[in-house]
Amino acid sequence: MSKVRIKEIFSSVQGEGPYIGYKQIFVRFCNCNLKCNYCDTDFAPNQYFDEFDPFELAQCIRKYNLSLIHSLSLTGGEPLLSNVFLKEFLPLVADMKIYLETNATLADRLIDVIDFVDIIAADIKIPSASGLANSFSFHDKFFEIAKRKECFAKVVFNQNINQNEIAECCNLAAKHNIPLILQPQMSSKSLDFSSDFLNDVLDKFLLLYSNTRLIPQVHKFLNLQ
Ligand code: SF4
Repeated sequence: MSKVRIKEIFSSVQGEGPYIGYKQIFVRFCNCNLKCNYCDTDFAPNQYFDEFDPFELAQCIRKYNLSLIHSLSLTGGEPLLSNVFLKEFLPLVADMKIYLETNATLADRLIDVIDFVDIIAADIKIPSASGLANSFSFHDKFFEIAKRKECFAKVVFNQNINQNEIAECCNLAAKHNIPLILQPQMSSKSLDFSSDFLNDVLDKFLLLYSNTRLIPQVHKFLNLQ
C-alpha cells in the first residue's frame, strides 16, 4: 500500500476563485514539480510532514464534522505527484465532493484520478509572474482532460503581465471553454496594485474572452489559513 507525505490537514474557508467562502478540509501535499517565484509553500528539506497510507488519511479526515464541509481540497505542493496514492485514497472518500487544486502540468497523472474528482482548480502559469518557462503546451494537454469535469483556470499576475500572455491565456480558455479567474499576486494582506491597473488588466482579458473574472485571495484579508 502506498504512503504519502502530507504537510498539513486543516479545515478552513476556500479563499480563491469561484468557491470563495465555502468551508473545506484542506489536505496539503508535500513537494511540487515546479518552482514559481510567488510560491508561499515551504519545501525546505527539513520541513515538517506526516506520512499516511490511504486508510489512515481517510480516517483522519472523518474526524472532522463533515456535515459542515462543502468539499475536500487536495492542495500542495502538487497533489498529482501522488497519483498512485490518490487512486487508492479517493475511493475511500467517494461520499465527499473532491476539489483538486493543481498547477495543471501533469495531464498523464490527471488521467489516473479524474473519475474521482468533482472540481478542478487549475493554474495557468504565465512566465512574467511565475518566472517559469512558457507552460502553455502542458496546460493545453491538461485542460483537454480536465474539461470533462467542472474546471476553471486561475492566472496569478503582477505588473509585468504582457499582451502576449493575455492572448495566450484567452486562447487556451476559449479553446477548452473554461472560466478564467484573474488573481492579483499578493505577498501580504494588501493589494499592491492600483485599481486603474487592475481594471486595465481585466478589460484586456474581457476584450478577448468574456468568461473572465478578477478575484483576489480573500483568506489573506480574513486572517484565515
Ligand atoms: S505550482 Fe504551486 S506549489 Fe508548486 S511551486 Fe508553483 S505556487 Fe508553489
